[in-house]
Amino acid sequence: MSELEYVPVPFFEDNYAWLITDGRAAIVVDPGDAGPVIRYCEENHLTLAGILVTHHHPDHVGGVDGLLAWSGNSSLPVHGPAKVRIPGVSVRVGHGFCVTFKEPAFQVTVIEVPGHTHDHIAFFEAGKGAGVPHLFCGDTLFASGCGRLLEGTAEQMLASLDKLAQLPLSTRVHCAHEYTLANIQFSLRCDPSNTDVSDWYDQARALRAEGAPTLPTTLRHELAVNPFLRVHSPEIRAALINQFNVLVPNRLAAFILLRGWKDFFSVEEAIPVERRWPPTLLKYC
Ligand SMILES: [Zn+2]
Repeated sequence: MSELEYVPVPFFEDNYAWLITDGRAAIVVDPGDAGPVIRYCEENHLTLAGILVTHHHPDHVGGVDGLLAWSGNSSLPVHGPAKVRIPGVSVRVGHGFCVTFKEPAFQVTVIEVPGHTHDHIAFFEAGKGAGVPHLFCGDTLFASGCGRLLEGTAEQMLASLDKLAQLPLSTRVHCAHEYTLANIQFSLRCDPSNTDVSDWYDQARALRAEGAPTLPTTLRHELAVNPFLRVHSPEIRAALINQFNVLVPNRLAAFILLRGWKDFFSVEEAIPVERRWPPTLLKYC
């Protein structure tokens, strides 16, 4: 069996479609734009064996029709969430469903991870034998961040992140956006005494300065630096209490405060203090 390669194909401002290939055939995850994926396949003489999509947002599915047309294969499997009907998705998969490809030899298990959207799923490749596990998690877990709550609740997102945090520490995490530097800038504010975060900022800046992706990350690394996986940490709770002057009685309260802080982080300096989020948190705690 050939070694698989995991290639980030950039498109739009900061999206990645992930291409999994054995050098002859490829599977693509979250192709929001067909053109860059087609170009990569043509330049590397790859045929397309299938498409995986994590959720219904256009920047994750917008290229499906174009890739189906380009492949010339009307039965090309397109696996997507069971909970919604997405144009072009031919196989709707729910939690625990196994997706298997022969060429390239590749098998993933579906994990339902609602929060960013109701339908969001992730694909987990366990890795055979001593092989490294791989996770394709769309807009749920980012390097040093997590997706915004556009449809689901904070409870759902926290439960989804908890599920992903149970995967093997060596899991390579393939996120769908290059948000890392902005996310680390927030980590520096909410987890200021974490030296792993400041080291990571230096490494990520060096990678971006070379035009290289900061991804994939690993679960071990995220557990050390990602504030959304560290809502139990006394340092982060202290930062939240200092920022909002409220009680933080549990992990969920910490997560809600942290997510809200991040949503407004880039613009918060422009908002008068009395109008900053959140007005009250008691109902969530
Ligand atoms: Zn999305």
